[in-house]
Amino acid sequence: MNPPPTPVLELRGIHAGYGTLDVLHGVDLTVEPGQVYALLGPNGAGKTTTLGVASGQIVPRTGTLTIMGVDVTGIPADKLARTGLCLIPEGRGIFPNLTVTENLRMATFTGNSFASVQDRAYELFPRLGERRKQTAGTLSGGEQQMLAMARALATDPAVLLVDELSMGLAPIIVEELYGHVRRIAESGLSILIVEQFVHELLGIADVAAIMLHGRIVGTGTPNEIAETLQSAYLATTPNS
Ligand code: ATP
Repeated sequence: MNPPPTPVLELRGIHAGYGTLDVLHGVDLTVEPGQVYALLGPNGAGKTTTLGVASGQIVPRTGTLTIMGVDVTGIPADKLARTGLCLIPEGRGIFPNLTVTENLRMATFTGNSFASVQDRAYELFPRLGERRKQTAGTLSGGEQQMLAMARALATDPAVLLVDELSMGLAPIIVEELYGHVRRIAESGLSILIVEQFVHELLGIADVAAIMLHGRIVGTGTPNEIAETLQSAYLATTPNS
């Protein structure tokens, strides 16, 4: 029998926070190769903080961060970015005053040629090709998110961390973007994506988890998690 594949990203027993404030209270999370892992939870649950730990921006008080089987706990974020980890932050992290093309050029720091970065971006997102001379700040929200994804892919990451892709976007645009996320995962990339409760995300995820008050309180298939969310919702509905 083949040994199980090495997880691409693993958080084990993570306690972390800000100053003396503890936000994460023992988070365990494993992303396998090529998986879309959906971490769902309400405002303030600790999802962004989890991505902060996974990307090396927040050093955990205790616990370990492992990337492709290597313990990288405490390694600074810029070094981790070079080991194949890329974060798309809430707000997308693009340069609004630069054009689409200039934004892509800024993403060639890991050594990929500008031509190959552009080819890949415009093939995946033809709409960006049509808008290549437009400044990023004048793109629609969905196009900005596509640009953020194209920039991330330009660094050839092994794991993509995405914070609230759906933020401020119409459901139909979110669905289109999730379609891209699914296709990107099918090309072999692993994706950890956090959202408040966006049901559509369960449609493209391989694994889902619910985070509440800095703890993962349930992990399972998207169907299992959908049922858990449904009963949690019914449990909090007045007069139910
Ligand atoms: P959201 O959906 O609002 O992004 P979240 O699940 O991502 O929520 P976090 O942003 O991780 O939650 O926040 C978890 C807790 O940590 C919250 O109580 C928040 O107020 C606190 N927090 C977040 N960032 C900081 C910070 N820089 N300094 C101090 N406390 C912070």
